[in-house]
Amino acid sequence: MAPPVRRVPWPENVARPLVSPLQPSAVYVTDGPDVLDDQYAGALPGYTYAREGHPNADVVAAMIDRLEGVSGGIITGSGMAAISAALLGPIRAGDHVLGGDQLYGRSLRLLTETLPAMGIEASTADATDLASVKSAIRPETRLILIEVVSNPTIRLSDVEGIAALCRDHGILLAVDNTFTTPLGFSAGQAGADIIVHSVTKLLAGHSDVTLGYVAARDPEIANQIRTLCITMGLTPSPFDCWLAERGLMSFEMRFERADANATRLADALDGMPGVRKVLYPGHASHPDRDRARRLLGNRGGHMLSIEIDGDRDAVTRVVAAMPEVAFAPTLGDITTTISHPASSSHRGLSVEAREAIGITEGFLRISVGCDAPDRLIEVFKRGLAAI
Ligand code: PLP
Repeated sequence: MAPPVRRVPWPENVARPLVSPLQPSAVYVTDGPDVLDDQYAGALPGYTYAREGHPNADVVAAMIDRLEGVSGGIITGSGMAAISAALLGPIRAGDHVLGGDQLYGRSLRLLTETLPAMGIEASTADATDLASVKSAIRPETRLILIEVVSNPTIRLSDVEGIAALCRDHGILLAVDNTFTTPLGFSAGQAGADIIVHSVTKLLAGHSDVTLGYVAARDPEIANQIRTLCITMGLTPSPFDCWLAERGLMSFEMRFERADANATRLADALDGMPGVRKVLYPGHASHPDRDRARRLLGNRGGHMLSIEIDGDRDAVTRVVAAMPEVAFAPTLGDITTTISHPASSSHRGLSVEAREAIGITEGFLRISVGCDAPDRLIEVFKRGLAAI
């Protein structure tokens, strides 16, 4: 039996839905080759094939564009897809890429394993130290990738110095603004040529989508990135975009609450029995406090790390004593989560390499959520008493 002819009803109406319709169609129907020609030539608007773009992704891109104060952002299937596109779009064989040496683990692997395997030179430098970055620049350096706040050591990159270096040397600056978010840090104003996000984290905020975002200031670079995303199929799923749109509706509110909660939790943890060290950019004792003030203003953000007075067994006891806080290697959830870098993000490093950047077995990273703050502090007190 022949399948029925599909005519999707789209009634003329004076009203429209408040919530964006979920549009899972992989392909779009037009009236014939002349219309399609005009679409591809850009003379007529309209979607063609979902890998090349779809309405749910465009809605999310526009929301993040607004937050970042830029235009033309692209949504990808994950944060790593966005970072890969940010690098592979503009760079060419023979170029050199430089990255902060405390980038997210997979970004580091992209630099140290994937790019070299493709014949692209890449190296790392300490982004908190301008002299280290300066001395790592080569004549063929095309792009520098940094994060504003390092993960999980919570150190602040010298964004101002690196942006000036990039301007002077004609190097593209790509900033992964995931940790800080557009409300915590304006990457565009700081001089980023390319901005990336793992939307999976606080932007979407509910641990139920995997998405990324990438935007470039220069239209030619933006076009190179967009073409790469389409060709390599880094496309996001419409349903993930639809969920992310819903999450983004409450992003500003969640950010305010998580930031305030983190400040309170960091204050409470400071001096709590069993806590050796609290790393929070909002604290006067933070090693990069002045830079944190300049880059983040009065905010400390929703991420903090602590070192407890104990080893892995002590961490296991703490985790077991506070089941309300999920032990999960992610960040940006609506609730507070805790992770142990030595057994997760940094498990690939040797003990010596980990300890050189302060990641001991007693080191914990906390992603503070929107929980009731008094209760959260009580839970941590109970957990840490188990050390
Ligand atoms: N950038 C940062 C700072 C991250 O923490 C992560 C993931 O944890 C990523 C990028 C990668 O994002 P995704 O997991 O969405 O690919």
